[in-house]
Amino acid sequence: MERDKPQGLPDCLKCLHYKLTWEPAYPHCCGVFGIKSQTIPAREVFLATGRHCPVFHGKPS
Ligand code: SF4
Repeated sequence: MERDKPQGLPDCLKCLHYKLTWEPAYPHCCGVFGIKSQTIPAREVFLATGRHCPVFHGKPS
């Protein structure tokens, strides 16, 4: 189902703006949107806006 697993989500784990938190209930954080969430922030962005996150910034390899 598209809502459960939207295709083409940016990979937050590879994004410079992604952070882990110390909160077990909300372990994921996006520094751009100020989101703390249970699942990756890009999914929350998609569910809230219907669009994929436009500010993915890949970490240098
Ligand atoms: S900027 Fe987008 S891709 Fe990067 S952590 Fe935030 S939601 Fe994920």
